[in-house]
Amino acid sequence: MINLGGTKVAGLLPNRLIATKGPKGSMTLYLTFDDGPHLEYTLKLCDLLEKFDAKATFFCIGRNITRYPDIARKVLERGHLIANHSDTHECFSNQPLRKQLNEIKGCQSKITRLKPSTSRIFRAPEGKLNLSLLWQLKLKKWDIIHWSYDSMDFKKLPLESQLTLFRNEPVTDGDILLFHDDNQLAIDLLEILLPEWMEQGFRFGSL
Ligand SMILES: [Zn+2]
Repeated sequence: MINLGGTKVAGLLPNRLIATKGPKGSMTLYLTFDDGPHLEYTLKLCDLLEKFDAKATFFCIGRNITRYPDIARKVLERGHLIANHSDTHECFSNQPLRKQLNEIKGCQSKITRLKPSTSRIFRAPEGKLNLSLLWQLKLKKWDIIHWSYDSMDFKKLPLESQLTLFRNEPVTDGDILLFHDDNQLAIDLLEILLPEWMEQGFRFGSL
């Protein structure tokens, strides 16, 4: 099991194996939001992104798509990408390979029901996947996406501390940023950060 939870290990692997960075050279940041769709926050977040002409990638959990298909559909209609973050978000560490593959298949079938010509893009729950799964997915031409910048929004720190983290370690061209759309914090953070990043010359694209 390679634990890609942090960016240290994943960053050492070739980008075409597990992508931690997006294309560079166009001052683009790749915002990604995990664990939705969420009834309360996902569309609120989309409203905010729209103000900055920002496109993002939503790594959705299959069972949440089943719960809120209309929200997922709206995310797509607004020009964002929905990608695979497993069916139930159970950590892959202790699961047999067959079950891991079923988790991915289950989620993918829910995404393709919304959008038949969907791409094969996967991010592992908690960023943990083993070599045999990696091998299987690469054989089937999946893109595996990690991140280069963790917002740490899951820690639910006060907004000011969270902003300090960002200011101490500025984002760079091509960064894939990890947020979650199951809480208000990401929205509060981005309300402040998006205009700042725009002023620095960044735009925001989906993967
Ligand atoms: Zn997750």
